[in-house]
Amino acid sequence: MKSHYQAVVIGGGVVGTSVLYHLAKFGWTDVLLIERKVLTAGSSWHAAGGIHALNADPNIASLQAYTIDLLTEIEKESGQSIGLHMTGGITLAGTPDRWEWLQSAYRTFQSIGIEDCRLITPHEAKDLCPIMSTEGILGGMWADREGYVDTTGTVHAYAGAAKKRGAQIVENNRVLELNQTADGWEVVTEKGTIQTEHVVNAAGLWAKQVGRMAGIELPLSPLNHHYLISDTIPELEKLDFEVPMTVDLEGFTYMRQDQKGILLGIYEIDHEHWNVDGAPWDYGFELQQQDPDRIEKELILGFERYPALQEVGVKTWVNGAFTFSPDGNPLVGPVRGKPGYWCACAVMAGFLQGGGVGKSLAEWMIHGEPETDVFGMDVARYGDYAQNKRFIKETTGQFYSRRFVMTYPNEQLPAGRPLKMAPAYADMTAAGCRWGVSYGLETPLYFAPSEDFVETPTLKRSNAFEIVAAECRNVRENVGLLDISGFSRFAVAGAEAEAWLDHVLASKLPAPGRARLAPMLSAEGKLKGDLTVFNWGDGTWWIMGSYYLRDWHLRWFHDHMAGFADVIVSDISDATVGFSLSGPNSRKVLEKLTDQDMTALPFMGCGTFDIGLYRCKVGRLSVAGELGYEIHCASSEHAGLRKELLAAGQDLGIGEYGFNALLSLRLEKSFGIWSAEFTQAYTAAQTGMDRWIAWDKSDFVGKTAAITERDGNGPAQKVVTLQVDADGADASGFEPVWKNDNRVGFVTSGGYGHTTGKSLAMAMVDADLADVGTDLSVHIVGVARAAKVIAPSPYDPEGMAMRG
Ligand SMILES: Cc1cc2nc3c(=O)[nH]c(=O)nc-3n(C[C@H](O)[C@H](O)[C@H](O)COP(=O)(O)OP(=O)(O)OC[C@H]3O[C@@H](n4cnc5c(N)ncnc54)[C@H](O)[C@@H]3O)c2cc1C
Repeated sequence: MKSHYQAVVIGGGVVGTSVLYHLAKFGWTDVLLIERKVLTAGSSWHAAGGIHALNADPNIASLQAYTIDLLTEIEKESGQSIGLHMTGGITLAGTPDRWEWLQSAYRTFQSIGIEDCRLITPHEAKDLCPIMSTEGILGGMWADREGYVDTTGTVHAYAGAAKKRGAQIVENNRVLELNQTADGWEVVTEKGTIQTEHVVNAAGLWAKQVGRMAGIELPLSPLNHHYLISDTIPELEKLDFEVPMTVDLEGFTYMRQDQKGILLGIYEIDHEHWNVDGAPWDYGFELQQQDPDRIEKELILGFERYPALQEVGVKTWVNGAFTFSPDGNPLVGPVRGKPGYWCACAVMAGFLQGGGVGKSLAEWMIHGEPETDVFGMDVARYGDYAQNKRFIKETTGQFYSRRFVMTYPNEQLPAGRPLKMAPAYADMTAAGCRWGVSYGLETPLYFAPSEDFVETPTLKRSNAFEIVAAECRNVRENVGLLDISGFSRFAVAGAEAEAWLDHVLASKLPAPGRARLAPMLSAEGKLKGDLTVFNWGDGTWWIMGSYYLRDWHLRWFHDHMAGFADVIVSDISDATVGFSLSGPNSRKVLEKLTDQDMTALPFMGCGTFDIGLYRCKVGRLSVAGELGYEIHCASSEHAGLRKELLAAGQDLGIGEYGFNALLSLRLEKSFGIWSAEFTQAYTAAQTGMDRWIAWDKSDFVGKTAAITERDGNGPAQKVVTLQVDADGADASGFEPVWKNDNRVGFVTSGGYGHTTGKSLAMAMVDADLADVGTDLSVHIVGVARAAKVIAPSPYDPEGMAMRG
């Protein structure tokens, strides 16, 4: 062990060794992994080693596919057997909804290029896995590349391959302390102190403590997990093939062959946390006592699905812990305010996801950005609110218990809620508001007509369809009021505020008293934000964006401050809240509450106005595509301002609406949104954002890459608007788009356009098929539907309403 390394990885489980391997593979060979005991001494040694294709987040599914491909590579490179059994795998559907969902998931897989899957009948499932009872099974999905590995062999293969590329590993050496230095980190270990530029927390069950060493409170917790290994099953002995890895979602179990018996793993409904503050330091190769009583219900289902288990004994019980984040996805990436500190934590399925995590993190550390969009596992998707222990316990527990439970897109889950509420929350609830959640904040979805209304969870149009339709109509015909506390707001101040904004945003900056849409780009020309920038005319600037990207954007802003000494970016999102008024009568509502001339405020103008009793910042813009105003006030004024606006609008047909209606209204305008049409995987030209780029600006982040793209042959794919011949269900995202039998793109978002009477979708399709009138088709909930490229903005294409 030397006294200095370029990077130090803490933790010798499957994740740490994968990070080490990828760093060395991509060119950083002055790297060290430090392990407290011996490699695998955390969760990794007792994992079931299953590898499985399916994940509800398509980006995570892609990283899983990468890991599966990588396994044979590291085996070859290291010369260490990983005991790979690529048996293939089956995911079973035991209810009609699940079967529809699986058919839909199969199509999503096609969208992301995972082609080695197919839907199968219960009869085929039985042929493939003869020891299984197919009682109650409606169908399944077969995937070629599923199976299991030897867990210890796999960790040693990553480690061996990393060492062959020059990386070092030190075992039996606990990291005791981390101290931030001017150049990186001082790593104090049992065997001495090391200086390094980069430190990676891959401490698995101990990630919490290794976070605290750097003053970071990570939102994660270990939970216990059971599997059993049966004695020899005579039926298996007779087979001349190995049965596939099988997941019975309705039974809460997964199964794979283990020699001539089977391993049955259980996702316990009655979950159990274990050492929420991290494992004890002296925890070794121990396990928890099995608790069959707690998992009795799932065991009964498992023994019914695999009846042979009723005839043979249990050879081994494993009850061990592994670590979960609130949404079950890993926590990866740099931490704001801690340069050189990187997370590779909460990797719930390390053998399945560890390769993808290692690759993305190594790219991030070396090149400054991962190659693909990894927001779904970015540690910055959580803010400080997620540090609360009860929040962590409730959300991780909910995720664990529901791991195999079907979640519908319109379903709201209760854990850790309500956490943050805008001040008018209680009044809005009394008015019928039904709430969603974004970054811990309750956000309005729609207003139910009665207390008894219950929205049924569904993959199709729900029984809230007509409620949302009425809200949309009222916005288009009268005026709608929407609580927009769920937007982020950053105030930018200081002598260099303007210069910094000009550098970090790709658009022209607005003149005083004006707002402007502002793409933000990475150096590679990928999107980093679809922001709105305000020049309030009094030396104050604001940036507005998506509330759930607050930490992610702040980290980006802070990372791009070099050379700007006098600029301060403050996140004022919780201190400043507000409402949007949209619709032809919106100006009339404001005119009743102010003696200032509202007609003097042009489209995309902004200024300070007295609205009723309140002194508000008002911008004239509308995501709904109507004459509209965004009215910002102090948090303490929120409830009062709402009352004034509603009272003033009473005889003008004012009605409150929620984000479900807004999503439909913006789709009718072909306005893209983040995480759908705009993500960090796309460039400005692919998404149409390039029309906001100020090409003549002397410089801005991403300018060179954007110009290269502009002057090249154009993007291979483009965002278009589709009208879909849908029936009872609309597109939602990631459905494949076809031209005849060729997959030519995928849906970025979709829904019903309530005031145009059309099922609409936005989609990323091959550029040569982006012309208006092109006939295509789309799979919606597993069923092929005709679709046609239509001109953007099926509602008010000239934008007259907004400008009116
Ligand atoms: C019963 C069970 C079944 C499972 N089945 C599967 C499965 O089928 N498929 C799958 O993909 N996953 C499975 N998992 C999950 C899998 O085990 C984990 O995702 C994976 O092991 C996490 O790896 P890791 O490297 O993040 O953490 P760990 O394996 O916990 O490794 C962390 C390492 O860091 C070291 N460390 C911690 N603190 C320090 C310090 N201060 N100094 C030095 N070293 C330190 C520890 O000693 C440890 O070796 C299962 C887990 C359990 C419990």
